[in-house]
Amino acid sequence: MTALISTTGAMAQDFNYNVDRFADIEVLRYQVPGFDELSLNQKKLVYYLTEAAQQGRDILTDQNGKYNLQIRQLVEAVYTNFKGDRSSADFKGLELYLKQIWFGNGIHHHYSQDKFVPQFTQAFFDAQVKALPKDKLPLCKGQTLDQMLTVLDRVIFDPTYMAKRVNQADGEDLIVTSANNLYEGVTQAEVEAYFNALKDPNDATPISYGLNTKVVKENGKVVEKPYKVGGLYSRAIVNIVYWLQKAAEVAENDAQRAHIEKLIEFYETGDLKTFDDYSILWAEDTKSDIDFINAFIESYGDPLGMTANWESIVNFRNNEASRRTSIISSNAQWFEDNSPVDPRFKKKNVKGVSAKVITAAILAGDSYPSTPIGINLPNSNWIRAAHGSKSVTLENITDAYDEASKGSGMNEEFAYSNVEVEMMKKHLTLADKLHTDLHECLGHASGQLLPGVDPDALKAYGATLEEGRADLFALYYLGDPKLVELGIFDDPNAYQAEYYKYIMNGLLTQLTRIEPGKNIEESHMRNRKFISEWCLEKGKKDKVIQLVKRGGKTYVKINDYKKLRNLFGQLLKEVQRIKSEGDFEAGRKLVENYGVKVDPKIHKEILKRYEALNIAPYKGFVNPTYRPVYDNNGNITDVKVVYGENYIDQMLRYSRDYSPLTK
Ligand code: ZN
Repeated sequence: MTALISTTGAMAQDFNYNVDRFADIEVLRYQVPGFDELSLNQKKLVYYLTEAAQQGRDILTDQNGKYNLQIRQLVEAVYTNFKGDRSSADFKGLELYLKQIWFGNGIHHHYSQDKFVPQFTQAFFDAQVKALPKDKLPLCKGQTLDQMLTVLDRVIFDPTYMAKRVNQADGEDLIVTSANNLYEGVTQAEVEAYFNALKDPNDATPISYGLNTKVVKENGKVVEKPYKVGGLYSRAIVNIVYWLQKAAEVAENDAQRAHIEKLIEFYETGDLKTFDDYSILWAEDTKSDIDFINAFIESYGDPLGMTANWESIVNFRNNEASRRTSIISSNAQWFEDNSPVDPRFKKKNVKGVSAKVITAAILAGDSYPSTPIGINLPNSNWIRAAHGSKSVTLENITDAYDEASKGSGMNEEFAYSNVEVEMMKKHLTLADKLHTDLHECLGHASGQLLPGVDPDALKAYGATLEEGRADLFALYYLGDPKLVELGIFDDPNAYQAEYYKYIMNGLLTQLTRIEPGKNIEESHMRNRKFISEWCLEKGKKDKVIQLVKRGGKTYVKINDYKKLRNLFGQLLKEVQRIKSEGDFEAGRKLVENYGVKVDPKIHKEILKRYEALNIAPYKGFVNPTYRPVYDNNGNITDVKVVYGENYIDQMLRYSRDYSPLTK
């Protein structure tokens, strides 16, 4: 049987994927194949939704840090009004800083969470700010220039002040020590006490507490300030609602119109019960070709995992590639029933695991410029259990990564031998996509909590363990003959390419994303690390995986892929137990013992080898532009998708045209 290969062939050969390169970042662009074939109505819908998406940019920037918007405005003003030598070290440093804060949606690195270190002097900056025309100064109400500089100079130049956006360090007050803007004037203990008092352990359909609020203290009392029309971020949310209303008018069908209108109601009321109603309508709309998210979705930006960052992705179905995921999801119950997990923690009826491959039309908020390649929503556990979830793979984004990374020399440097290099060349594109499909449409959707277990019981380790669970589910089944039987893989050993890459990444190559002397903080990196280290240790006796030294370089050697698959299965069983029982202590130990600490010697070696390749460890994207074509009566007769905008131009245009919170 033939494998279902994706439609990469449709990509134009001469498309320029590489846009910009600075610090540890490479900016790419992606294509939107199939957009021109959409109906006029669908094109209008996409256009309105992309406008709604771009209106939320400032929300995320402000959520990421209290001073972010003011700093962005100020640095942009200096950058665009600068009259001096644009090739001077100070100006180059300022440009770099601006590119970084655009990419991080704030003054902290999007991944490491560390504050950017400016490569220009405070004296240079202060002089430029003082030379700005008065009307270019983003002063707060009643603030003088000197007062503004006193505050912002400390935020920008003092490395110890607001050092980390999200602090996950075990044993510290995670709220007080995190520089994000989701809490103010409250301690972790106060926040936990506040929400514990609200939560009813017997509520089978709890709302997502704190999802859309900032928690502050007013008159000595802890209170929530909702993000909504008339509340926090009102000016941006009003604009989002305006474009959503236009989208509702051209909805493809009643089900889609219903969830768009419910989302508008949520933005108008801030009511989380309404958000659950919206999520249910959205999860159950599996027929529409055009789809989108536009809300407060993922809570990785909150050390307690409650308040969500704003994001939006607009997309449409990639019919050809969706055949692959529909085969997987239509067999969801088989996968659930046959997993190594304890039967008590399995779902008796895996409901509505819908999966599709999509073409992203725009990325915004927490998904821009850095973006996920797969999404599985909604996040609410009971909604997923009762109404199913939607799982998508962003194939045009994956293809752009693939195309842009060809010839980087990464695998040639780090793989043990030519055998692994060739195996990855041959099988990794499809195996990687399947890993994402299985992770998103089966992994996250599988399993159940025991009755009465608090879904937040794993606290700061929840996200890492959840990602680990989904990865383990995917890894375990990648090696299952079932995938060949279903016609998804045509080579029974193709999975080995993904196993090799996963372990090589978890043990070695992902360390390229960590600065010397630092430990691993980010959830997805911690999960890859704990899985790989655990398998290395537990397979030691049988030499399943070995770390081999050759010519002063460390390599991963996998001797037995079948046994490795068994180890993935054993660990999946344990991680599911931890989640189902809410076993915080076991979860903490697993992550802290295997997923956090970095061996400084290996780290140093990997960084050195990596540096020689000169590859950016992080990538992100600029968006295409959508241009409506109007007739003489002002009706839209077509929408054109335009590529080619560079990174600086796009960011400055967004700040000019889509910045309702700074006006
Ligand atoms: Zn995931």
